[in-house]
Amino acid sequence: MTRDVCIVGAGAAGAGAAYALRDTNSNVTILEKSRGVCGRAATRRKNGCRYDHGANYIKNHDQRTTQLIRDLGEDGLVDVEKPVWTFDGDGVISTGDARDQYKWSWTEGITQLAKRLLAQTDAAVERETQVAAIDHNPDTGYWSVVDATGTRRGPFDVVLLTPPAPQTAAILTETGWGNQCMVGLREAIGSVEYRTIRTIVLHYPFEREEPWYALVNTDKEHDIGWVAREECKDGHVPDGESLLVVQLSPEWSTEHYDDPLSEVAPDVADMVAALLDDDRLRDPDWVDDQGWRYALPNGVANREIIRRGEPNGLYFAGDWTVGEGRVHAALWSGIEAGERIANG
Ligand SMILES: Cc1cc2nc3c(=O)[nH]c(=O)nc-3n(C[C@H](O)[C@H](O)[C@H](O)COP(=O)(O)OP(=O)(O)OC[C@H]3O[C@@H](n4cnc5c(N)ncnc54)[C@H](O)[C@@H]3O)c2cc1C
Repeated sequence: MTRDVCIVGAGAAGAGAAYALRDTNSNVTILEKSRGVCGRAATRRKNGCRYDHGANYIKNHDQRTTQLIRDLGEDGLVDVEKPVWTFDGDGVISTGDARDQYKWSWTEGITQLAKRLLAQTDAAVERETQVAAIDHNPDTGYWSVVDATGTRRGPFDVVLLTPPAPQTAAILTETGWGNQCMVGLREAIGSVEYRTIRTIVLHYPFEREEPWYALVNTDKEHDIGWVAREECKDGHVPDGESLLVVQLSPEWSTEHYDDPLSEVAPDVADMVAALLDDDRLRDPDWVDDQGWRYALPNGVANREIIRRGEPNGLYFAGDWTVGEGRVHAALWSGIEAGERIANG
């Protein structure tokens, strides 16, 4: 019997779940708040450049991730070969360890992950559709989903929620379902907090050479958390140009989250110039930014509790369900949720 499945969110987890359901008797509808897919694994195009301004790359964390990425097609797959080095609160740069791992994106950007997964499915993706609430009909056992304009969709046999925990918790506060597991679900999901990151993009009309692709602040004592050279990804930055993706620390990002870009960009450019000891970097020819209110989970939701809704068709996936703010972790949480739905 065909089952109607609604997936909320088209990030790595939501796309992974749809992929896992592709050859099953499931009618899959994905409702996605934003215009694009892949969530925090995001790519933007501007002035002839393409840059991954959320997640920087996917690691070949394990064999199954490596296999899946390769199965999605090697055309356009980019491995960032240069290493990630480190720096401390005093701005002292050190060589990173010699981890020999792939760091993957695509020439078209990291959003290719969700695009390629979804291309193998029949899932209907409704973009710019923000889910506000879900409801359970106790007589039929079906779910319905209400968007921010009040439009109701359904009935669905299964609903899978994949937004970051605080956004999933907000949907659950508006959920009409008298089942006693709701108290535990709301508590478990509401308890997962996220760190905030603001990304500032700095572009320069000249090339720079460095032995590294990115620098990460390991002692968490610097206002800059991460700086990456997007030109190390094939097809992202034209020859003769440089583009730095700078992620600020959670403390700095929270304090300056709403400050205008025109105010913060000069300060960030000065910090980067000091860190990289290159005064030319004080003067980017254009800048860009993105705030990630819910960037990385600080914890994990209790796995046993968040599965209590599954017998009634309510599932959860996403990085907060596995406690690891990583694309591959979110992806597999979604694939495994899809497999449980298929077997449920
Ligand atoms: C700045 C930054 C850098 C990072 N760097 C890396 C990295 O280098 N490597 C790495 O592996 N990971 C990195 N991460 C973490 C990684 O991006 C995430 O862990 C992963 O992408 C999470 O995927 P997800 O599907 O769980 O959630 P998301 O990607 O957040 O997907 C959830 C989706 O739900 C949608 N949504 C939210 N609310 C609603 C609603 N009410 N209705 C409908 N849709 C909704 C969102 O728009 C989004 O598309 C980084 C994250 C950030 C922010």
